[in-house]
Order: sequence, then structure tokens, then C-alpha cells
Amino acid sequence: MRTHKQTTLKGPATLSGIGVHSGNPAEITIRPAPANHGIAFLRTGTTHGNDRLIKAHHALVSATELCTVLGDVETGAVATVEHLMSALYGLGVDNALIEIDGPEMPILDGSALPFVQAIDQIGIATCDTPRRWLKILRHVRIEAGTSFAELRPIDRGFRLDVEIDFESPVIGRSRKAMDLSPATYRREIAGARTFGMMRDVERYWKAGFALGASLENTVAVGETAVVNPEGLRFQDEFVRHKILDAIGDLALAGLPIQGAYRSYCGGHRMNVGVLSALFADRANYAVVEAQGSRRETVLSELGVGLGIAAFAGDL
Ligand SMILES: [Zn+2]
Repeated sequence: MRTHKQTTLKGPATLSGIGVHSGNPAEITIRPAPANHGIAFLRTGTTHGNDRLIKAHHALVSATELCTVLGDVETGAVATVEHLMSALYGLGVDNALIEIDGPEMPILDGSALPFVQAIDQIGIATCDTPRRWLKILRHVRIEAGTSFAELRPIDRGFRLDVEIDFESPVIGRSRKAMDLSPATYRREIAGARTFGMMRDVERYWKAGFALGASLENTVAVGETAVVNPEGLRFQDEFVRHKILDAIGDLALAGLPIQGAYRSYCGGHRMNVGVLSALFADRANYAVVEAQGSRRETVLSELGVGLGIAAFAGDL
């Protein structure tokens, strides 16, 4: 179970590697941050020399093509934030400042496992401030063709139910549902790697994507089999990675969610879209504060925890 106090890291954790889409190297340092700070990125090394502070918030998403991009590409953005966001959410880290010296997060091994290991090595500290949740109060659903994404109220916790259906016989149709906790995240989700079809690679390269992709960081799917010599980490690794991505995108709500998420053939665009639909109506959600393990206080009238005014300079 998640603690009812907010958390951060016990100290800084540094990782480096190349971006899967840009191929550019980047170094990141995940730093502790005070209670109610939330997750934010400090983009250094911009061409104009000014550092940009970018709150990890769905309203600041500027692109969802193949990965999730936060911030304005012209003045300083961070691409492919979803795997680190997923690791922080999955482990229950509420507050952190991520310094990054390039335009794209390092892809590392294509999963969230290196982030989880780095955070676990440093350790998680508990703050003396109650945790806040975003409680889903009404069913919110978006559709595009046959695909959909939705959020529903539930009594406790965060449940994910993700279904994929690819024309590729190697991936095919697959569905997985789970209740999220740090233990289930570590065991079932963190290690699932990003994947791509070999037949799409040339198209991605022409569009300037996947320039850093290799068998070291991507499960490459051929016509009849996985190309990677080591094979899959899980028999259903593809749908597990889609859950990993969904957690990372939904973490852009700015607070942990109490609710049930479900998607069919979703992706970054639909994950961010369902958050936009959720926040479009204040009756859809409440911000609640933990009061011991069973009680909660509703804070939504105060607008607490969702404000991005302090970061308006980055909009
Ligand atoms: Zn991913």
C-alpha cells in the first residue's frame, strides 16, 4: 500500500545515455524536492542559454507523436518523459526535480528498470506532509475510431486495464489488468521495454524519429518473430510496456490517481487526452488529502495541488 505521507528521494541520482528518438546524449540528475513541489524538469543546456523549469503537467504537453514531450520545443523542452514519470509514480515518489542537459530523456534499456534501480539505490524519504490524491468522481471516456481510453471512480487505489490489438502476429491481441502498488510495479511493469516494428523503422527515420533506437533499448518486432537475440522479458511484454507508458502519461495529472483506467488500442495521445477530458469539468474529480490510512479531506474547492501558475513562464 502507498503511504499516506508524501515522499521524495533521500539524495540525488544521476543517469546518462542517449535519447531513442534524437540519438542525442543526455545526463539527468533526479533531485529531492520539498512536499507539494510535485515532479518538475529543469532543462539546462538550451541553445539560448536560459534554463527552463517545466512542471510535469498534462497542460504542458506539446507533442505525443511516439513519445510524450513536455514544454515548448523552441525555448526548451524535454522529450520521452514517460518512462521516468512512470518509475516515479510506480514507486510512489511525489516530489522530485529532474535536471536534464539535453532535449530528450535517455532511453537506457527501453524500460523503467534503470530508473527504478537508481531510485532504490538512493532510497525514498517520507516527508511529514499528507499525500494528496486526485479522486475520480465521474466516468470520463474519449474515443477515436475503435480505440478508447477512460477513467472511472473506484473505492480505493489505482487500477489499470490495458488492451492492445496489433496486426502483427508477433504482438497480436493482448490484455492485462492490475492494481498498482510499488510492489506490483517493480515485479510486473518496470522491466517491460519499448518496442517497434522493423517495417516502420525506415518511416520513423525519415520523420526524424528513432535515431537512437537499437536492440540495446528496443524490442524490434519482425514479420514472424522478435529480432532481439535475448527474446522477450515477459511473454506479454508489449502490453506491459503499454501499461508502463500509461502510468507515466497519467502521472502528468500532477497527483496520484484514485480511480480505474482502461484503454483499448490507446497510446500517449489518448492518455493525455483522457486527462484533458477529466480536467475539463471540475465535477469529474476531487483533490483529497490523506488523514491517516482511512480518512481523507476534500481539497478541490481550494484548487490545491493542481495549479501551474508558478510555472506560467514556461507556457
Ligand atoms: Zn514507452
